Amino acid sequence: MHLTQLQHGEQPGVAGMDRLDATDLPGIEHWLAKETPRPIANVLTIDLEDWPVAVLGPEHDITGRVIENTRRLLHILRWHQVKATFFTLGRVAERFPPLIREIHDAGHEIASHGYGHELLTDIDPRRFEDDVRRSVGILTAIVGERPIGYRAPAFSVVPSTRWAGPILADLGFKYSSSVFPIRHRRYGIPDAPRHPHHWKDCGLIECPPATVRWLGRNWPIAGGGYFRLLPGPIARLAIRRLNRADMPAILYVHPYELDVEGIRCHMDHGIEVGIKRHLMQRLFRSRMEGRLHCLCEQFRFTTMRELLRYAV
Ligand SMILES: [Zn+2]
Repeated sequence: MHLTQLQHGEQPGVAGMDRLDATDLPGIEHWLAKETPRPIANVLTIDLEDWPVAVLGPEHDITGRVIENTRRLLHILRWHQVKATFFTLGRVAERFPPLIREIHDAGHEIASHGYGHELLTDIDPRRFEDDVRRSVGILTAIVGERPIGYRAPAFSVVPSTRWAGPILADLGFKYSSSVFPIRHRRYGIPDAPRHPHHWKDCGLIECPPATVRWLGRNWPIAGGGYFRLLPGPIARLAIRRLNRADMPAILYVHPYELDVEGIRCHMDHGIEVGIKRHLMQRLFRSRMEGRLHCLCEQFRFTTMRELLRYAV
């Protein structure tokens, strides 16, 4: 196994963080150069969830819009013969099992996004374990195999919720994609490694969303609002830069980001949304389909399970 074992929470100057800045992502090159096919593959991940639950809060219902939105994504992926990793919310799977079977039957990876989309910062370890265990039970019953990957709701693995790693490892997970190595007011561990690495206190592999290093700090390019708002050529340039350093770019998309009129429809069904949130969340959704086509045409993608197949 050649994954670099830089650890979360170590200060710059300790355990190679200086080297990380100096050479831009050492360690991972050897692993990828030796054991994965060329050219390097990126990973397109989908956080399979519905907008009201994901953005407004876990008290909201799962609506049928998630089906249509997910099928739009599936159509794009099928068109380009791209396989993706779907971090699937247990509540969505519970409500619409045939949708999950459809995704799985199309050759995509089904991973876990927990059950209820409660942020780790709002719950304790016991409740977290119950939530993840419940999602595993639902997904396993639908597709016939246990998920090996997990992504925390809203990347809520932060310094105070690092207890999540050993719990995930004990539950049988092989990897997580839950730590955003950026500085942000609600999430992120800015000094966490930018490349796949092992957690400090368990065998779990962390696969962080893509960032670029510029002006001494990490900048997100990976997905969601960042991906919608950044000019397309800049995002593609950043992915190329990572790939030149033998780094896979791990990107993320939400099905609802393709749903241009989605928020208006939720409001028509009685969900209250402030004007600022409406504008920000809707902004550039009309770009998303074209952008995804462009990415799928220009870059090579695989699933996280496939990317890590020699390491787990
Ligand atoms: Zn989510």
